[in-house]
Amino acid sequence: QEKDYQFMLRTRNPGGYVPSQLYLALDRLADQYGNHTLRATTRQGFQLHGVLKKNLKTVLAEVIRNLGSTLGACGDLNRNVMAPPAPFKNRPEYQYAMEYANNIADLLTPQTGAYYEIWLDGEKAISAEPKPEVMAALRRNGNGTIFHNHEEPIYGNHYMPRKFKCCVTVPGDNSVDLFSQDVSLVVITNEQGDLQGFNVYAGGGLGRTHNNEETFARIADPIGYVEKTDVYDLVKAIVATQRDYGDRYNRRHARMKYLLHDWGVDKFRQTVEGYFGKSLQPMQPTLPFKYEDFLGWHEQGDGKLFLGISVQNGRIKDEGTLQLKTALREIVETYSLPMFLTPNHNVIVAEIDPAQKDAIQAILDRCGVQKETEIDPLVRYAMACPALPTCGLAVTESERAIPAILNRLRLLLDKVGLPQEHFVTRMTGCPNGCARPYLAELGFVGQKPGCYQLWLGADPNQTRLSEPYLDSMPIENLETTLEPLFVFFKQQRQPGESFGDFCHRVGFESLRNFATTYVPE
Ligand code: SF4
Repeated sequence: QEKDYQFMLRTRNPGGYVPSQLYLALDRLADQYGNHTLRATTRQGFQLHGVLKKNLKTVLAEVIRNLGSTLGACGDLNRNVMAPPAPFKNRPEYQYAMEYANNIADLLTPQTGAYYEIWLDGEKAISAEPKPEVMAALRRNGNGTIFHNHEEPIYGNHYMPRKFKCCVTVPGDNSVDLFSQDVSLVVITNEQGDLQGFNVYAGGGLGRTHNNEETFARIADPIGYVEKTDVYDLVKAIVATQRDYGDRYNRRHARMKYLLHDWGVDKFRQTVEGYFGKSLQPMQPTLPFKYEDFLGWHEQGDGKLFLGISVQNGRIKDEGTLQLKTALREIVETYSLPMFLTPNHNVIVAEIDPAQKDAIQAILDRCGVQKETEIDPLVRYAMACPALPTCGLAVTESERAIPAILNRLRLLLDKVGLPQEHFVTRMTGCPNGCARPYLAELGFVGQKPGCYQLWLGADPNQTRLSEPYLDSMPIENLETTLEPLFVFFKQQRQPGESFGDFCHRVGFESLRNFATTYVPE
């Protein structure tokens, strides 16, 4: 008899959009076939853990019949397309970002019918057809070199050398960690709010391997500006460039970031332009990027409200006095409200009638769900990947370890006289970097059981990479390692300077010198 193999199932939700019907189906499936929890991911999808192999077909079919999909959420192809999750109806740039995230997801969806043949016995999926302009772009052959065959017009017979990640955002909004993606598009509008085109960034990616200098985290470079009518052809040209020139021999060197690193931006741009058949224009001026998490109550701008709810570690579950899973089910079921998953593994409930606000808040209060003002900002801005026990690549703990580590950090900050201080902390159970630790002010990257690399020096808005400060820190040394750095920070910071900016400004040599001579009180 075959073993009871367990699987993890991940959904594809462009821009993090989850219709109420899908949420309720996932909530049921987690109880019936999973481990009674749902995991909101850092790519705005859901993961369902603990699904037995014998139940996979039932669960997948149920997801698809309830307006969901898992197609392209894993594998060597375009992954879930991200966008700022805030449903602002009076800010057209947010609407454009969501619209184009959906369209690019459709453009880069595999055309094969195999997915539905395998999981739905060939039944036609109940999903909207791509928009006509997306279908037309899919059929267009660019400069004559984009198509490989007619079945899979963009991916050809061999798909991509490695996973591929895109996002669309608006000027100034870095809720999507745009510098960590293969391709990032920034919506450019005119003064009337009409869409003109997109600034394009390319070549970000965070995954790396310990003790392998050839692998590294990299942030995306600005590539140029493209008119809105050409954006699909440009995205196809970038995908074709990586498809044809990305390293297919060495998976550790296969992400598009290595192409940009090895070639430089100019050669990359020229190659893309060869497929595109046009030149990219200079980047348009835009705003400095800032991290946003959209927690709490907000006006949508059309008379309705949305509510951002913090989900510690992205894990939606009922445990003790915190009945988050029950609360979300009750809210979504009672009011038929859609949800958006955020890139910081939180959730936003949207389309709330102001008359429903008090009742919804009462459900959350009854179920022990904290308001954003009650959450320690160290917790609010922290992220952790699932790691043990559900991720096969994990070398040590992450999601299960981070609550205690954040508590210890808070106690340490209190001890050194920084009681209000907070910064962005991210932790992963291996160097793959799913919780994007290389863009955190304080990053813990699993090195071996109970030990983490310590990364410091990124900025609070995730526009600069951190660097490895310590190669392997046993977690019991957390306080002895960080106390001198926090004391140095307290003594020498400039007004308003964040911990990450401080570490970057003074440099690791100064940090190490201070730590070496530090005598605890
Ligand atoms: Fe797994 Fe590593 Fe990703 Fe964490 S960072 S979820 S351990 S692959």
